[in-house]
Amino acid sequence: MRIGRAVLTTDFKQPTREHDGNVCGSIFRNWFHYFYSFLDLLSRFSRTRSETRCVSLRSLISQLQHLDIKVGLYRDDGLAVTNQSPQQTEKIKKKMCPIFRDNGLNITIQANQKIVDFLDVTFNLHTGLHKPYKKPNDSITYIHRESNHPPSIIKNLPQSIEKRLTNNSSNEKIFEDAAIPYHEALKKNGHVMALKYAEKKTNTTTKNEKKRKETANEETKETKTTNKRKRRITWFNPPYSKNVSSNIDKNFFDLLNSCFPPNHKLHKIINKNTVKLSYSCTPNIKQIISSHNKRIINESSSSNKASTTKLCYCRDKPSCPLQEKCLEQSLVYQATVSETNTNKIDTYIGITENTFKTRFNQHMSSFRLHHKKSATALSEHVWKLKDNKKDFKISWEIIKKSAAYSTKTKKCNLCLSEKYFILEKKPTLNKRKEILSTCMHTKK
Ligand SMILES: [Zn+2]
Ligand SMILES: [Zn+2]
Repeated sequence: MRIGRAVLTTDFKQPTREHDGNVCGSIFRNWFHYFYSFLDLLSRFSRTRSETRCVSLRSLISQLQHLDIKVGLYRDDGLAVTNQSPQQTEKIKKKMCPIFRDNGLNITIQANQKIVDFLDVTFNLHTGLHKPYKKPNDSITYIHRESNHPPSIIKNLPQSIEKRLTNNSSNEKIFEDAAIPYHEALKKNGHVMALKYAEKKTNTTTKNEKKRKETANEETKETKTTNKRKRRITWFNPPYSKNVSSNIDKNFFDLLNSCFPPNHKLHKIINKNTVKLSYSCTPNIKQIISSHNKRIINESSSSNKASTTKLCYCRDKPSCPLQEKCLEQSLVYQATVSETNTNKIDTYIGITENTFKTRFNQHMSSFRLHHKKSATALSEHVWKLKDNKKDFKISWEIIKKSAAYSTKTKKCNLCLSEKYFILEKKPTLNKRKEILSTCMHTKK
């Protein structure tokens, strides 16, 4: 709805602001005659990072501007309106296809439509009204009122549904019809609040808010131009559980106060205003069971694989750096450098998402080639030993196998494990700042 509505109201010019939903609708109906709806806007963008996609979609919209239509795109769906005749609408459609194709997008466009379902809204140009849309076979499920969730989430659930349905409905009648299944779903899960259409309330507050914001903006523009800097906030997100009776919130901030009192040199960075607490949700039983099953299945299949496929292709097996396991992937490893004369031992912890062998070869080349000397802290140390003509030996071992970032879990256990072992084992060669480094696996 957000984008759909934003687009549909962009070119309403002044009248829309002063009228309520129904008048808007009739203006809308007189203004525009036909919809286009874009389907299956599938592309190479959908798999790359969202930022690139945003930029690309924005540039796409600008490329479509000369066609005399109003367009909005959201992920792989799009909607456009026009006030042209059916023949012209078809012509515009034919002009649109090559623009999408040039951007590497496959597209299906349906033109000359009066009623269209876009995201979670149905727009109707016959009546000028819009109503919430739900796929016919979608069943609505919500968390139970008694479930183990932070109270704020449970409390705000009916309100957020109410707000969404209100925004998506032109009038109260439409709202009430659409709210029935949501109401039942909420009731089934123990929520007692009745969903109410809150047209006037939201309209006035948003108007007031807008006015307040506008005046505030003007004031700030006039008085403070560059003074205000955005505050950096560090979030602490402990998992929430109803079984915990102690007041985590209070204990945490008490701890913060006692560890970083006002005279502490880090108090400026770590204080009640810069650190906030918000509970996080943990996976539900279904997710826990399925991830457990997946792990076991993966383990058994990988052990089957291991018995059939080799984990080492080294020609000289005894000299394999990882005892014939050099093709293992996604792991935390430790390198131990021991000086033969003095028996001085230094350790280094690293991670790799690829096979260990690939990473090992990179390390080896950084030990050999002078221009790669500062590739890692390990190579710097090795070069130091070489420059001082000291003999040394390096042994390698796997400390842990962990999964790297995946878009499904949104977590990088590999980077997390690396940091954990750097803190726990205190390797002598890793730099302290490595604990603060961000995960580079999210950029895939
Ligand atoms: Zn090997
Ligand atoms: Zn990572």
